[in-house]
Amino acid sequence: MRCPYCAAEDTRVIDSRPAGEGREVRRRRTCPSCDQRFTTYERAQLPLLVRKRDGSTDPFLLDKVRGGIERALGGREIPAGVIDEILDQVEAAANEAAPVVASEEIGRIVLDGLKRADEVAYLRFASVYKDFQGAEDFEKEMASLED
Ligand SMILES: [Zn+2]
Repeated sequence: MRCPYCAAEDTRVIDSRPAGEGREVRRRRTCPSCDQRFTTYERAQLPLLVRKRDGSTDPFLLDKVRGGIERALGGREIPAGVIDEILDQVEAAANEAAPVVASEEIGRIVLDGLKRADEVAYLRFASVYKDFQGAEDFEKEMASLED
């Protein structure tokens, strides 16, 4: 790879060892042109997948999660930044769970985030994505929010 100091085209690997509990390779490199040394990390980049309740998988797309939240909110305005914050958490959890994240896990993070930000938004999302067995469960959930 190119030298980050002088942009010379070729650098040389002088040491290579496992890092990050074996999930990464750490390389020490040197540049023959300017003699600077630097470190690179190599890590597998797998496509992220979402496993749905029926066991099938879909590519993980943050825009799809955003769309799901917005559809569930049905035009209700929630404080700016709330959805972005939730999506950041979803993305972090998905990367942690890589290469496959469960749709339930994503739903739980969204629910937690909405619950703290906006109770009506939370209930709307919950009614769409949680298994509410009917009006009774919905009322129970409402009551628990009032506590
Ligand atoms: Zn250089």
